[in-house]
Amino acid sequence: MDLTTLADRILSGERLTEEEGLTLLRVTGRDIWKVADAADRVREARVGNTVTYVRNQNINVTNLCVNRCGFCGFSRKPGDPDAYVHGRETIVEKAREAKGRAVTEICTVSGLHPDFDVESYADIYRWIGEGAPGVHIHASNPMEVAYAARKSGIPTGEALRIMKEAGLSSLCGTAAEILVDDVRKVICPQKISTAEWVRIIREAHGMGIPSTATIMYGHCDSEEDRIRHLSILREIQDETGGFTEFVPLSFIHRETPLFRAGKARAGATGREDLLLFAVSRLYLDNIPHLQSSWVKLGTKLAQLALLSGADDLGGTMFEESISKGAGARDTDYLDPAEMRRMAEDLGRTLRQRTTLYRLV
Ligand code: SF4
Repeated sequence: MDLTTLADRILSGERLTEEEGLTLLRVTGRDIWKVADAADRVREARVGNTVTYVRNQNINVTNLCVNRCGFCGFSRKPGDPDAYVHGRETIVEKAREAKGRAVTEICTVSGLHPDFDVESYADIYRWIGEGAPGVHIHASNPMEVAYAARKSGIPTGEALRIMKEAGLSSLCGTAAEILVDDVRKVICPQKISTAEWVRIIREAHGMGIPSTATIMYGHCDSEEDRIRHLSILREIQDETGGFTEFVPLSFIHRETPLFRAGKARAGATGREDLLLFAVSRLYLDNIPHLQSSWVKLGTKLAQLALLSGADDLGGTMFEESISKGAGARDTDYLDPAEMRRMAEDLGRTLRQRTTLYRLV
């Protein structure tokens, strides 16, 4: 493939095929910079030179979970000494604290608590709204929606309606991991299938609940799996337009059962990380924003991802425990001053945004 004309092809409206995407994910040597350069030029033409971030806070309501995903170092079983579940008082207080930090978004994804049903999720959103009125609630994911619906004996559409009414503003696009069932069977056999994830996301978008889109890569997935995943997202976005951004999540391996059991690699390499970002920018021509997650990549590689197609640095994350549970370090808070340094060092400008990408 001619890498020098790649950016022009994309900018003239041509779409990459799966085969081409696969070729790009496999490049080595100095061709990596050519692919990154094409992605960087497409990024500049599409969304300009602003690097964005959102002031947000995580509230992980409980780490108790009925599932046992192999890549998860966060979940606990009842009786584990460090298992927790926050009640109303703590959640309202945490939301108040977040509001005091001028966040525009509170993000909450938790374990699948054995006693939770749809009303439990609705309560959580109401309590967050009580402590932080007006703050955007970016919460739950298709797995939680499926779980809440099943526990309450209602269809997922009804669960989404109840959640929306209780204050859910947008859905987390997590639990996607890799949308290939053979891989899901290894890394998260109890999670919803690819078809179910896709169905619930479509349903949410159809009800006016936008979502992010994610991929978790670098465990036992292949390049074919990654490009299949991107194709599924591109197809959904063609239909619904409901994805606000794409967030590649590089697998954090250290404390995960999957890695300890020898079923996963020690995460993606730097080459794979940069190529995944670049190919995402080139392949997902209908998702405008690409988030570089400093929580997963560390700040130095996250900065380089900004040269490889990304235009967003994600959230300040005043509290983060999912990646920390899997063994990631320094995940608690990134000062916007440091984000500014990262952006300006590349000759770009940093701007605060809302969850839905309006500049603040
Ligand atoms: S990834 Fe989510 S569903 Fe899976 S074990 Fe961890 S908390 Fe539970």
